[in-house]
Amino acid sequence: MKDDYKVVIGLEVHVELNTESKAFCSCSTNFGAKPNMNTCPICLALPGTLPSLNKKVIEHAIKSGLALNCTINPFFTMDRKNYFYPDNPKNYQITQKNYPICEKGYIDIEDYKGNIKTINIERIHVEEDAGKLIHIQDKTLVDFNRAGVPLIEIVTYPDLCSAEEAVLFVKTLKAILTTCGVSDCRMEEGSLRVDGNISIKNKRLNIQGNRVELKNINSFKSLEKALNYEIDRQIQLMNMDKDIKLETRRWDNDKGITIAMRDKEEGEDYRYFPEGDLTAYKIEESYIYKISQSIPELPRSKYKRFISDYELSSYEADILSQDINISNFFEKAALRSGEPKEAANLILGEVFRILKERQKEIQSFNITGYDLGELILILKEGVISSSTAKVLMEKMFLTGKSAKDIIEEENLSQNNDKDAIGEIVQKVFNSYPKAVEEYNYGKRKVITFLIGMVMKESKGRANPELVKDIILKKLNEV
Ligand code: ADP
Ligand code: MG
Ligand code: ZN
Repeated sequence: MKDDYKVVIGLEVHVELNTESKAFCSCSTNFGAKPNMNTCPICLALPGTLPSLNKKVIEHAIKSGLALNCTINPFFTMDRKNYFYPDNPKNYQITQKNYPICEKGYIDIEDYKGNIKTINIERIHVEEDAGKLIHIQDKTLVDFNRAGVPLIEIVTYPDLCSAEEAVLFVKTLKAILTTCGVSDCRMEEGSLRVDGNISIKNKRLNIQGNRVELKNINSFKSLEKALNYEIDRQIQLMNMDKDIKLETRRWDNDKGITIAMRDKEEGEDYRYFPEGDLTAYKIEESYIYKISQSIPELPRSKYKRFISDYELSSYEADILSQDINISNFFEKAALRSGEPKEAANLILGEVFRILKERQKEIQSFNITGYDLGELILILKEGVISSSTAKVLMEKMFLTGKSAKDIIEEENLSQNNDKDAIGEIVQKVFNSYPKAVEEYNYGKRKVITFLIGMVMKESKGRANPELVKDIILKKLNEV
């Protein structure tokens, strides 16, 4: 049945720009401030106030447009979108309708099988965010700190064909925008918000269903679940010959269902008209060029370079190229040590584990990529064993000290002392005479057990190669 249907998805992605001040006034955009502290007569829309456009907003929007392969229009205007809602003090939102800042872009998405698909972008426009309503029992409070915070809205063409593709698109978009430094794109903090538009077509009967718009999606998991739920709901309706209403629905994450909110509004409902308090703006070519020079290497190019230059697997390269702080950390470690594979291994394993345990991000990590590179060098020299390296990383993280200093202070260097290891081996033989006996009866496998016991006894510091040699030598002596 499902095979009869073609799924069509288009996304509208709102991204909060990380400017210091709001779009049309000088209030701070700082997240987490006390309610209504970041407000002034302009963003509270008191009578007689006038907006003035923050230049950084335009710079970030153009930067995003360039990174998403858009055309940057030679001029743009702002418009008013009129609606009443208590989180919006002006009763209209300043946005862009007819002359958006960027149009016609695309990005490529690549799935885990290596299939590449181009997703086209219709436009990117600038607008302001609304405040927040806080519902407490039977009362509703309003916080205007977010009112006037700058957003870009990225509108895709309906080129996506599944929930998985939509998630991949948003992940790819996030990697590009965070790398450019225009936003932190944190879905859980609301700095990246997605509306999904979905329709289905019965290919066999050639019936096209109406488009449904989905709101209130605030994580990658919800995005996937909400879209899949909606696809199934629409297929069921069409199978029963029922109409799919053109409407806006909201995702209820607790119940795991979409719920009808309102009929889909049309452009006329918003009575769009030009924002007379702001003029039309011209964008100079030289300004666009200057911004283009400030765009760092983007994740896709980095991904390819990590595979070709460092011989990483596509899995490793993918994870290490998504976040600019992680990729910088990795490259510093790789270049310092000359061991990119080892650096990738330690970052994907130990570093991520430590960060996750302590709920830290790599920017606030006590170890730099350079420090990790030094640790890898010491490991390669055979001064420490790989199990000691792990312990060492924990300590480096806790104290912020270099690997060398900790090794010296705590006498952690690997034991290459044949006599010392010989003593430990003898001790283990004495403790496990049965194992030694079994070896003599031909059970060669006990060697692994004996090596393990010696390593344990030496607290992981004995050189494993030496341990093996010495055990074999002693066993054959017995
Ligand atoms: P609005 O602003 O009213 O939501 P737009 O025309 O700007 O309307 O379209 C919004 C989104 O809807 C775009 O992302 C677009 O790709 C998507 N879309 C358009 N047609 C369809 C369709 N038939 N099925 C699914 N999505 C669609
Ligand atoms: Mg919409
Ligand atoms: Zn303000």
